[in-house]
Amino acid sequence: MEAGDQLTAALAALLEQARAAAQHSYSPYSGFRVGAALRLNDGTVVIGTNVENVSYGLTLCAERAALVQAVSRFGPTVRITAAAVANLNDAPSPPCGACRQVLAEFIEPDAPVVFPAADGTRVMAFRDMMPLAFDMKLDKRG
Ligand code: ZN
Repeated sequence: MEAGDQLTAALAALLEQARAAAQHSYSPYSGFRVGAALRLNDGTVVIGTNVENVSYGLTLCAERAALVQAVSRFGPTVRITAAAVANLNDAPSPPCGACRQVLAEFIEPDAPVVFPAADGTRVMAFRDMMPLAFDMKLDKRG
């Protein structure tokens, strides 16, 4: 990990909430049990878990499940200041590309994202994880 990307006590606690959320996973097809926890700008933590479907493409990741809950509870101006992803399978699970794109609209660019990587728990600033998110806002081009 680079300087500034440390697993602080607050991030470790967020990671534990993600692990707890993974206990609720609905993953009868893959058995991959994932949880996510998002810390919001007011300090609230919202959790989510993956919800699979027999029509596999309809599966919802834990990160997007948590984000949908955050917006549903707090409205469209909600901002994410930290995110954690965990799984109960002892496997690497950084947020997938779809989740990164969806998070990009609500997460602070410098928000730390903690997740299990092949070399252990990793913390990355969101901007380093998703440097070129799709964006149609004209004032952000160039
Ligand atoms: Zn995903």
